[in-house]
Amino acid sequence: MRKIGLMGGTFDPIHIGHLVAAERSMEACGLEEVWFIPNAGPPLKDRAPGAPASDRLRMTELAAGEHPGFRVLDTELRRGGISYTYDTVQELRSLEPEAEFHLIIGTDRVRDLPLWHRIGELAAQIRFIGVDRPDEAGRPAEPGSMPDLPEELRERVIRVPMPQLDISSTAIRTRLATGLSVRYLVPDAVRDYLTEKELYRHDG
Ligand code: ATP
Ligand code: MG
Repeated sequence: MRKIGLMGGTFDPIHIGHLVAAERSMEACGLEEVWFIPNAGPPLKDRAPGAPASDRLRMTELAAGEHPGFRVLDTELRRGGISYTYDTVQELRSLEPEAEFHLIIGTDRVRDLPLWHRIGELAAQIRFIGVDRPDEAGRPAEPGSMPDLPEELRERVIRVPMPQLDISSTAIRTRLATGLSVRYLVPDAVRDYLTEKELYRHDG
């Protein structure tokens, strides 16, 4: 059975936290590939993305292009509207009926799993890989810990350890808006693109 990792996000912009999460999940779970899927409208975020979809997609492609096992899908951007993982998974399952999909998420998203659209059906179709991520105050997650989840969800989550990187797209946008460096927080190709397009300069 072909094991495929899925990594959804706003990628506004993509950063090394996303890339390390994908790499460690690949290694720990024997994933053949990881597919990055930038979303159009994220369901559980109240702000619109800061950069146009075309730029978020391009930066994700630049970052993924450095890894032979990473691919980028524009499935959610093409569909538009609110991007529900459930809808995306239905599309991907009909495309690749033989694949076993693993959705990679940080511990922040593991916590809000019960709120996801059609979560019961989704959890029956795919597995979740939960990677360590510090909380909003920068406090490290308890390695391998599992938030309080209903049993039927908990048993669908595989915890994968990773170095805890207190990095977020929000913090990167703030740095750019105030003229600070994002070197080493994003791949060089992404940093070059951000500079060339002057992205997030006025998004304080
Ligand atoms: P924002 O600050 O705009 O919310 P973000 O950095 O949280 O951006 P998203 O695009 O929202 O990035 O995240 C996509 C996925 O990547 C989510 O599952 C999130 O938990 C995970 N993720 C993001 N940053 C990290 C990180 N530093 N370590 C582990 N996982 C991460
Ligand atoms: Mg986030």
